[in-house]
Amino acid sequence: MSTNIDPEVMRTLVSQVIKELKEKGAGTSCPAPTAAATLYGVFPTMSECIDASTKAQEVLLFQTPATRQKWVEVIRHTCLDKRNMEMMSRMAVEETAIGRYEDKIIKNTAAAKYTPGIEDLSTDARTGGHGITLFEYCPFGVIGSITPTTNPTETIINNSICMIAGGNTVVFSPHPRARKTSAFLVQTLNRALEKSGAPANMITMVQNPSIEATNEMMASPKVRMLVATGGPGIVKTVLSSGKKAIGAGPGNPPVVVDETANIEQAAKDIVAGSSFDNNVPCIAEKEVFAVDSIFDYLLINMKGAGSYEIKDRETIEKLWSVVSNEKGGPKVEFVGKSAQYILDKIGIQVEGSIHLIIMEVNKEHPFVQTEMMMPILPLVRCDNVDQAIEWAYESEHGNRHSAMMHSTNIAKLSKMAKLLQTTIFVKNGPSFAGLGIGGEGYPTFTIAGPTGEGLTSPKSFCRRRECVLKDMFNIR
Ligand code: NAD
Repeated sequence: MSTNIDPEVMRTLVSQVIKELKEKGAGTSCPAPTAAATLYGVFPTMSECIDASTKAQEVLLFQTPATRQKWVEVIRHTCLDKRNMEMMSRMAVEETAIGRYEDKIIKNTAAAKYTPGIEDLSTDARTGGHGITLFEYCPFGVIGSITPTTNPTETIINNSICMIAGGNTVVFSPHPRARKTSAFLVQTLNRALEKSGAPANMITMVQNPSIEATNEMMASPKVRMLVATGGPGIVKTVLSSGKKAIGAGPGNPPVVVDETANIEQAAKDIVAGSSFDNNVPCIAEKEVFAVDSIFDYLLINMKGAGSYEIKDRETIEKLWSVVSNEKGGPKVEFVGKSAQYILDKIGIQVEGSIHLIIMEVNKEHPFVQTEMMMPILPLVRCDNVDQAIEWAYESEHGNRHSAMMHSTNIAKLSKMAKLLQTTIFVKNGPSFAGLGIGGEGYPTFTIAGPTGEGLTSPKSFCRRRECVLKDMFNIR
């Protein structure tokens, strides 16, 4: 079979094999990979991906939960291996030109360490005079997962753990701009899984991702469930597919700060959350509504925490025209770039310690109303907390994705939680606390607001089935 594997990915794999051979002692039992084996889950065509995934799922279906958990642990260890972790984080930043290496490390580590495993799949039982019925979370089969440029490796790690824990195999359709990075990760995981005795190709992807390949995946009767993590277009597409689909769509998370908050801490949290991975996480703070009485003090503290303030209108509008496209959305080449890089493009040079650009604008400004995914955070001055909550509600646009509030007023915190109905609502912390990074809870990189699964976990990718034994095993 001819393989068209990326030379860069191939070089990495070959060096891994050589390293392993050396560790084992050259000439000992470690076999040289065959041509077919070097595919390691990355196939030239979508139909090959789906067929291989189907075959793997037929084997996986009959494994015990403990065995599935063992393979989940292999995924965790492989990703947490220092070399793999650094390689995938670096490749993601270099290939997509989005985000920060240090933050990719944090996100990939969180996904590998803390994504829930089979412990998530609890069984319910009901017993009575007529016997026993079990309600269990069972596999869907082959799942098709479409992943974004903004979290290419995080989503593959997180989805793979959840889906395999649930007894499913997965065909990924990564963003074409994250092709090499995704292929590196898929092949690295398959190598490790196969070595530990797992069936080949539990995780697959097509060598050259494209809209046509994604469409083929969505149409295949062998793919039983679809998951889309991305913007509104792809979420709508999978929800119109006629299959069970999970949609994890865009957000525009607002932050409200009122006069009862710890302003110094709020400033630090907002800067940390909003600048994390250069603002690309869908949960990251995208606009602030602060009450007038603490507004200036908040701004001063945000500057002290690593933000650069643009004061004059003309520069704000210049910035908007540079980073936005003709449709009023973000210009792709500025998504996930650093504050230093963006400021440089409008003729402002700052130190590397500046991670966020801030400015006061009115609530109608497109910086407030548009999900830009850049470290640019507009602040809106509000008369009081009720107005701030109302304006936050408007700017979230009904995505019901994420929101943050800094306050000690329980009534107002409750009001915001009720009104916005976001999947994630963080109180008195940075947005990433909602993903279990410095907060309780667990990480997911597929936050399914539109379809209601919320922070997806293995059970989100399972079918609930019942198994009845008539008239027996009621032992009460
Ligand atoms: P995107 O929508 O451009 O791409 C997402 C994926 O969908 C990619 O793999 C892309 O190739 C594919 N795609 C897009 N349109 C398609 C079409 N018509 N047919 C087939 N495939 C198509 O998004 P992106 O820029 O990569 O990611 C950023 C967006 O994703 C933001 O809006 C962000 O909020 C959102 N996001 C949401 C979550 C969540 O968990 N809810 C997580 C990460 C990102």
